[in-house]
Amino acid sequence: MEFLQPRTWADALAVKAERPDTVPLAGGTDVMVEVNFDQSRPSALLDLTRVDDLAAWAQEGDRVRLGAGVSYTRVISELGGQLPGLAKASRTVGSPQIRNRGTIGGNLGAASPAGDAHPPLLAAGAVVEVESTRGLREIPVSEFYTGVKRNALAPDELIKSIQIRVATGPQEFSKIGTRNAMVIAVSSFGLALFPDEQRVGTGIGSAAPTPRRAVEAERFVADALDWDGLRPIDDDVARRFGDLVAAAAAPIDDVRGTARYRLHTLSVMARRTLGWAWHAYRKV
Ligand SMILES: Cc1cc2nc3c(=O)[nH]c(=O)nc-3n(C[C@H](O)[C@H](O)[C@H](O)COP(=O)(O)OP(=O)(O)OC[C@H]3O[C@@H](n4cnc5c(N)ncnc54)[C@H](O)[C@@H]3O)c2cc1C
Repeated sequence: MEFLQPRTWADALAVKAERPDTVPLAGGTDVMVEVNFDQSRPSALLDLTRVDDLAAWAQEGDRVRLGAGVSYTRVISELGGQLPGLAKASRTVGSPQIRNRGTIGGNLGAASPAGDAHPPLLAAGAVVEVESTRGLREIPVSEFYTGVKRNALAPDELIKSIQIRVATGPQEFSKIGTRNAMVIAVSSFGLALFPDEQRVGTGIGSAAPTPRRAVEAERFVADALDWDGLRPIDDDVARRFGDLVAAAAAPIDDVRGTARYRLHTLSVMARRTLGWAWHAYRKV
């Protein structure tokens, strides 16, 4: 197996253009597991860890541009204020070692329906920037996932960065697992309030072939919330929101949980995260 180690983004793109079969390697916490278990034997690995730009982030106006190679640990320690939903989800990922190595770009590259970065990225309306020697494309994250562990990348493209709006209101993340840490989500849910637009964003994880939004639930609750008077949320509204979130999912039975359990947990998580976020907003 060849190991290719470009030092610049331009060189990485040139390699990917010339050899689209090379497998990009960021933290390696997905790739190396597959290689070690002989589930994948790529002809070449394209190590992106020497490309400094990928590990950088910057705030540009009302957005954070997050390099694909930024780790969960750095999101937690450096971006908790700007991207609270993603930081909360990052805290639930794996162990300290996995959070140190694992990256947001790697989560997108793997595109597992259970990946923890997806619900907060969906809720925040993130945009994925992908590039090849042919040029740059901006893909709304809701269009990035195309199937189970599949994404919208062309064979010669790499993920460059993710644009995420700086939070204008509370953001929450909730994850159900069989234990508290080092666990793949049975189901997960991300929620973001945008009080300036009187809008709510959602993201469902591990309960459909791809991570997805609950669009009808978003519309319903945005209309139902008393953004100006700040009245507490009626139980009926919270329950209906939970039902609509569950209705947006399409889970399966598998070793981690049944479809029925996943739907139940989604409606509970939706109600809870809405309650937490609304409580935080009313206190501001
Ligand atoms: C013990 C353990 C626990 C884990 N726990 C969790 C968890 O709790 N939650 C969770 O979501 N995940 C978990 N994971 C999975 C993994 O850690 C995450 O998916 C992580 O985000 C992968 O990031 P990485 O940088 O290690 O990616 P890599 O393994 O380097 O790459 C993952 C995929 O993305 C592609 N890729 C990487 N960078 C790019 C790029 N710039 N452009 C294009 N493609 C790219 C790779 O080719 C590969 O297909 C766990 C893994 C292990 C081993």
